[in-house]
Amino acid sequence: MRAEIIAIGSELLTPYRLDTNSLFLTKRLNSIGIEVCRKEVVGDDRRSLDVAVGDAFRDGPGELLILMGGLGPTEDDRTRDAVSQALGRRQYLDDAHAERMRERFRARNMPMPEINLRQAMILEGAEILENTKGTAPGQWIADSGKFVVLLPGPPHELETMFDKEVMPRLEKVAPPHHLITRVLKISGQFESYVDATAAPIYRQYENPETTILAAPGEIQLHLRGTGATEAEARERVNELAEKLKIALSDSVFTENNEMMEEVLARLLLTRGLTLAAAESCTGGLVGERLTRVPGSSKYFLGGVVSYSNQAKMDLLGVPKRVLESEGAVSAETARLMAEGVRRAFHAGIGIAVTGIAGPSNDGTDKPVGLVYAAIADDAGHRVAERKFLGDRERVRVQAAQLALDMVRRRLASLTL
Ligand code: AMP
Ligand code: MG
Repeated sequence: MRAEIIAIGSELLTPYRLDTNSLFLTKRLNSIGIEVCRKEVVGDDRRSLDVAVGDAFRDGPGELLILMGGLGPTEDDRTRDAVSQALGRRQYLDDAHAERMRERFRARNMPMPEINLRQAMILEGAEILENTKGTAPGQWIADSGKFVVLLPGPPHELETMFDKEVMPRLEKVAPPHHLITRVLKISGQFESYVDATAAPIYRQYENPETTILAAPGEIQLHLRGTGATEAEARERVNELAEKLKIALSDSVFTENNEMMEEVLARLLLTRGLTLAAAESCTGGLVGERLTRVPGSSKYFLGGVVSYSNQAKMDLLGVPKRVLESEGAVSAETARLMAEGVRRAFHAGIGIAVTGIAGPSNDGTDKPVGLVYAAIADDAGHRVAERKFLGDRERVRVQAAQLALDMVRRRLASLTL
């Protein structure tokens, strides 16, 4: 079963309110194997509503159509009327529900405005979905092989109603179906390379479905597999994940949606190694990333943010002649920074970043985006040179990721 979601409310078309309900719904629907194939935001305008509801009901790709918002008592709440028109079903005043609403008001010692009766208008043939958190009931209608569901807009009302009233109905009408998602993350490769390598493999599978996403410093492959049981779905996803892992080899840094710093935590802890970082260009971003992980103080000893040449000399022992002959942004400086910070912190591994984040360069002929990252340990050192594209922030994020990835690759090559 596929679902289509329509969020209704003019406020959702302003810069101030976001349709968050559909994210909640998507998560719940996915958990029972229902995929969302289309969603839409429509203002409180009867014409737009008629077009959207009519189109989704007649020609929409989903067998499940969820509409939310616009069930209130006021003139701008028009969802019921639009559905009534699209489905050709009349509305009637449900006395039992009207009475329940009157009671809610009585309990608060308030008279119920007559206009609220609009909320007790039910479409012919609809099942009423009880609203334990508010007054507007939801409605569930089976029509022409589709299911149309009306839900209130306020998130706490919608969430409670969905879990109590809609989920049990869906589990009955949708064949048991489980969805498993797995995220592989790849570092140090271009999206075009990842896709050229991965596509011939994942295209052989309709289930799982694979999408490729680029984030700064990493490429993600999202695998979504379904099955009659959770085990079957998982098996399908695992089979494809294994093949992709072999093809992309050590560029894959996680198969479980972890962050790079979490992967490093595991690698460092199991090997009993410590780390220190010297940063120019990233201004502490490497240290910030590492310390996002609880318990990182067990392996991350500290760092030096060294922008001036004097700091590179005094704190990291980079010789003045190297800074003068090679420049602060150079392979040699990066190596000496890594060795210097390793020494200063008595760490097993020292890493360093130096580069030009932009927007202007350092007055030499070196281009914006040029970054050197270095790693030094007992076995020696390695330096990587990259020319990153993008603005200052993107260069910094990619530079930090490069330095962390060098640690990962070094540790992964060390046998336990
Ligand atoms: P309504 O049911 O249209 O009267 O909506 C009542 C309130 O619920 C709105 O003012 C919003 O604050 C909230 N709301 C409506 N739709 C959504 C949505 N899709 N996502 C998040 N909040 C919503
Ligand atoms: Mg509204």
